[in-house]
Amino acid sequence: PAAREYTGTVEDCCCDYETADAINEEVLHPILRELVTLPFFRYFKVKLWCDCPFWPDDGMCRLRDCSVCECPENEFPEPFKKPYSGLSPHSMICQEGKPQAAVDKTLDSKIFKGWVETDNPWTSDDETDNNEMTYVNLQLNPERYTGYTGDSARRIWDSIYKENCPKYPSEELCHEKKALYKLISGLHSSISVHIAYDYLLDESTNKWGQNLSLLYDRVLSYPERVQNLYFTYLFVLRAVTKAADYLEQAEYNTGNPEDDLKTQSLVKQLLYNHKLRSACPLPFDEAKLWQGENGPELKQEIQKQFRNISAIMDCIGCEKCRLWGKLQVLGLGTALKILFSVDGDSYLNQPLQLQRNEVIALFNLLNRLSESVKFVHEVIKEQSPSTVQK
Ligand code: FAD
Repeated sequence: PAAREYTGTVEDCCCDYETADAINEEVLHPILRELVTLPFFRYFKVKLWCDCPFWPDDGMCRLRDCSVCECPENEFPEPFKKPYSGLSPHSMICQEGKPQAAVDKTLDSKIFKGWVETDNPWTSDDETDNNEMTYVNLQLNPERYTGYTGDSARRIWDSIYKENCPKYPSEELCHEKKALYKLISGLHSSISVHIAYDYLLDESTNKWGQNLSLLYDRVLSYPERVQNLYFTYLFVLRAVTKAADYLEQAEYNTGNPEDDLKTQSLVKQLLYNHKLRSACPLPFDEAKLWQGENGPELKQEIQKQFRNISAIMDCIGCEKCRLWGKLQVLGLGTALKILFSVDGDSYLNQPLQLQRNEVIALFNLLNRLSESVKFVHEVIKEQSPSTVQK
């Protein structure tokens, strides 16, 4: 694909490709890459064994690499084992009522009150601690090729696209539905990019490496899929920067002061980076959504569709894909919660409350997207160096 296809503003975003690539290379990628290795961000709580609510389990995974290695009790951080000390959701004070559809572009700046167990209206999982939850060390379980293909994988994507976020056929599809499709398609592109980036090239010698033809076949030959990857990346980036004050105040406590200070410092570097803020102050403009008359109904409909997509993750027949599928959908659900933090069932705008696991998912998702954008950009640039304008 010609690099010139990726110049100008990313469709439906407020930032162009060149800027998106530059801030990724200079700011986001270096910070995120380090951040996700630190203890706070590398342990993700997940319920891996759940029955698929939609059809009998048909999962088949060819490689041993499919399975997830869990953390023994003594490995993950001590504070993660304790019940939350923050306010319970019942003691949260609601702000003055606002119409459900209105999007507030600011967030109360003094809002972090400790980690809470609170529902995310965009996701289906009950995040309450129980003995079905396990901690997984993400560093030991990288997202890469697992050999999960065929009917089972196809069925998941088909049911996501056909039933829950149909591709917009023409101009008639509203902004919001288009945005949902693009978010999912962008995530799909990112997953494919990671498969191509870390692929089992030779099973007999266990040789891993890049599979560029797969990258072309699944992503680069379809400019729209690349565009959607950038869209998802900017959407999630906007959510992170919108919640900057909350995320800055949050407790990154794992019981190891040295690591925790480093985490805090990297989070701050990312959130208040001058280059990032000046080059792309508003990566996505969420206030443009839900403006029509039927905004509240539309939001409920899309929320329901996204919750369905989140439930479908339990049908993925490959443990490692399920882990990363759940993490990334939770990350997207967290971004949606930040950008449209209105309780779907009431007409009150609530102060933002995030769970620790949501923040872990959000930053890990942004890191995955940032890696995908970097790899795609490098390959495209190499293909047509003369057309890349910087
Ligand atoms: P698929 O990627 O399965 O695509 C199916 C169809 O969707 C395509 O034929 C095309 O019509 C459409 N499509 C493809 N890409 C896009 C896009 N970006 N936007 C819109 N439409 C698109 N496999 C691994 O090896 N490792 C993993 O970590 C992994 N994680 C997964 C996580 C999830 C949530 C799911 C559902 C699957 C995961 N898989 C993973 C499987 C992987 O995504 C593919 O399904 C599999 O490799 C088979 O690929 P495929 O060529 O049949 O096309």
